[in-house]
Amino acid sequence: MHKPDKPDERPHRGAPGPEQDPATSWMTFAYCRGADPEVFFPHDGVGVEVASRICVGCPVREPCLEYALAHRIEDGVWGGLSERARRRLLASRAATGGSR
Ligand code: SF4
Repeated sequence: MHKPDKPDERPHRGAPGPEQDPATSWMTFAYCRGADPEVFFPHDGVGVEVASRICVGCPVREPCLEYALAHRIEDGVWGGLSERARRRLLASRAATGGSR
């Protein structure tokens, strides 16, 4: 699986300085901050489940998910959702005119 190379695609995984950008300030409170990136870029459904369990209690789950959706991030688990789940959510929002 491809992993993002751009720093802003996974700053909450420990890249420096995300808290200085208001758009990513939520990352300061991410449960996965400093976690092994491999956990959040799983190779199978079991891995997605492991990452998603961490996300369940994360206080910034919603901004994390919205960030991934807004930036069309295709890889990894964000906001507790896999790539596939995010694609479904985007399609659902598009079908309903953007409502949740
Ligand atoms: S919701 Fe999950 S991926 Fe997003 S910041 Fe929290 S722990 Fe990390």
